[in-house]
Amino acid sequence: MKIICAGLNYRQHTIELNWPFPSEPVIFLKPDSSIIKNNKPFFLPGFSSDIHYEVEIVAKISKLGKGIGARYAYRYFDEITVGIDITARDVQARLRKEGHPWELSKCFDGAAPLGSFIPVTDIRDVNNLDFRLDINGTTVQKGNTSDMIFSIADLIEFSSKYFTLKTGDLIFTGTPPGVGPLKRNDHLVAYIENKPLLDFYIK
Ligand code: ZN
Repeated sequence: MKIICAGLNYRQHTIELNWPFPSEPVIFLKPDSSIIKNNKPFFLPGFSSDIHYEVEIVAKISKLGKGIGARYAYRYFDEITVGIDITARDVQARLRKEGHPWELSKCFDGAAPLGSFIPVTDIRDVNNLDFRLDINGTTVQKGNTSDMIFSIADLIEFSSKYFTLKTGDLIFTGTPPGVGPLKRNDHLVAYIENKPLLDFYIK
């Protein structure tokens, strides 16, 4: 399976990183070895001294598809959750300056902790969904999917022009503002609406 990720998909986060607004989705992939499941801890790697959290809504692809139109995209995902796009910000800044790909900064082991999935049928409106991340009991990021520059349907349409989507593939849909550093023993809990779906520690 593959993990398709959208970068810079919330205006306020794009501003906080001082990047220009994208005119089409900014897409990168993570390998399946970056997934952490079942609330297992994330271990800070030795190659970075600035590991950041980015809480994101994650959609799970339920059907094989290629060249999917946005208006049919809802037929291609049936579950969502929250995940953290863990980013080595110092490594990313170096790669960005050199004009190199981002993989070393976002695709290492453990860089994609995933919450438990809930069925889309349980959700009122995936395009108007509150989600948030609390660290040590304080809310650090808060988003609503209506603030995405490109909706989940737009991301499915765009990425399926390039990649065949397969059952079980995941789409990380971008992070709202408020990203920041992680330190040892931080306790992260991520919510959709008021449901905690992901709960883990930094080691
Ligand atoms: Zn991200």
